[in-house]
Amino acid sequence: MSGNLIIVSGPSGSGKSTVVRKLLATCELPLQLSISVTTRQPRSGEIDGRDYYFVTHAEFAQRKSRGEFLECKEVFGQGEWYGTLAVQVYEGLDADKWMILEIDVQGALSVMQKHPEAISFFIHPGSLPELEARLRRRGTESEASIRRRLEVAEEELTALSHYKYEIINREIEHSVREMCQILEPYSHGATKHA
Ligand code: 5GP
Repeated sequence: MSGNLIIVSGPSGSGKSTVVRKLLATCELPLQLSISVTTRQPRSGEIDGRDYYFVTHAEFAQRKSRGEFLECKEVFGQGEWYGTLAVQVYEGLDADKWMILEIDVQGALSVMQKHPEAISFFIHPGSLPELEARLRRRGTESEASIRRRLEVAEEELTALSHYKYEIINREIEHSVREMCQILEPYSHGATKHA
């Protein structure tokens, strides 16, 4: 027996990190978050090894060339890289964990190719103006970064059809319950019904 692979994507500012954190805290399944490696700078409050493994570009490139990543991408086209560690994911699955990969659409599509059985969720706030409002409320990004994230979001929304489940995140608690309810039947060997 091995665990399940879960992919969660959605535009930056869609609330997906909060949803995933609450899902991990409340859903009674053996969920485990895959901690990605990134070259971007930590935001205030972020902790190395909990939120990401923060590394230099040189270290990232070295790990990439050693084939350590299940997938890796330069996410916003601005020189910062993000990657999923293969060993972490497969060790988790071997230990019957349900590994959650919170990754961008390009990364998700390459994982789906290798693992069509992955349970994939696309979380979004319903509309681009709503997304922009959330990014501004969050207050962590510069104006240029907000614009870039909105452009990427618009592109990403076109990938929705590749995901098994769409979660419109209007209310966090509701989204968390919805995802947990979708996941639960997979512990009895369910497959996507629609
Ligand atoms: P942030 O900089 O806001 O933490 O993340 C930016 C984007 O990078 C998010 O959409 C997030 O899902 C994505 N991301 C985080 N880790 C990975 C990863 O390992 N691989 C890929 N492809 N995307 C990632």
